Amino acid sequence: SIPLSFFGGIGGASKKGILVKGSSYLEAFNNVDTVVFDKTGTLTKGNFKVTKIHAENGWNEDDLLYYAAHAELYSSHPIAVSIREAYGKEPDAAQIADYEELSGKGVRVKVNGKTVLAGNSKLMDAEKIEWQASSEAGTAVYLAIDDRFAGSIVISDEVKPDSAQAIRNLKAAGVRQTVMLTGDSKAAGEKAAQELGLDAVYTELLPQQKVEQMEKLYGEAAKNGKLVFVGDGINDAPVLACADVGVAMGGLGSDAAIEAADVVLMTDEPSKLVTAIRIAKKTRRIVM
Ligand code: ADP
Ligand code: MG
Repeated sequence: SIPLSFFGGIGGASKKGILVKGSSYLEAFNNVDTVVFDKTGTLTKGNFKVTKIHAENGWNEDDLLYYAAHAELYSSHPIAVSIREAYGKEPDAAQIADYEELSGKGVRVKVNGKTVLAGNSKLMDAEKIEWQASSEAGTAVYLAIDDRFAGSIVISDEVKPDSAQAIRNLKAAGVRQTVMLTGDSKAAGEKAAQELGLDAVYTELLPQQKVEQMEKLYGEAAKNGKLVFVGDGINDAPVLACADVGVAMGGLGSDAAIEAADVVLMTDEPSKLVTAIRIAKKTRRIVM
């Protein structure tokens, strides 16, 4: 039978905006070895600002923003949202056809009759586009129009105000290792990891590679305790399933991720994970 106070713990958590979908997850929080975070939208605001537009091959900056904003109309990725914001107008859906989202890489879509690719270096390589690396700090979204490189849009994200403190508090609460997995570039990923004081960071991962890395971390964590994953739910539902406890940010997160998660943080603050662990420890003291 389940001790009553575990229900008390779940109730206490829910009052703080932490939805725990079963007492076993609260119990698991008592013995966390490793916490793995997604980067974009989880540890960072996912609220990018366009900081540079570089047009090539006869296109200008306005063209680039027009094609990129239309290409990204149907994507819920934080990168897509910021490009649409920078465009500043409502993209015209009538000009868009054959939309395809390439998870961990970007999008392919017809805009105004032209085939547009918008995404990272992996997308450009996969589509055999001759592209030019951006040297700007930030995350570069490369564009190709009708199979020719058209330029790049550089966007900059910021870490959330409570992320660094949350990482420190997790360590203080006995978590052995904090890790970040990201599909973003080495430069952007390592910069954020350093700012946050994470123990390890793995960058430029495709969704399947995130799963593989999680399986390795699971094996290591299992010797000492539990593996927790925290994500915003965009492109990371398969990773959530690899953890002992999968945590989703409820505000930005997709419905699918909220459904797949074991724990939902309604306010998107990494520090809520620390709160959840504290509630779990208090609950256990009451049970014992
Ligand atoms: P993360 O959340 O770890 O940053 P994702 O798997 O969501 O990683 O995305 C990885 C990378 O794929 C992004 O950093 C970006 O370069 C590219 N990407 C994904 N979706 C899009 C999109 N809609 N438009 C442009 N690039 C994208
Ligand atoms: Mg993500």
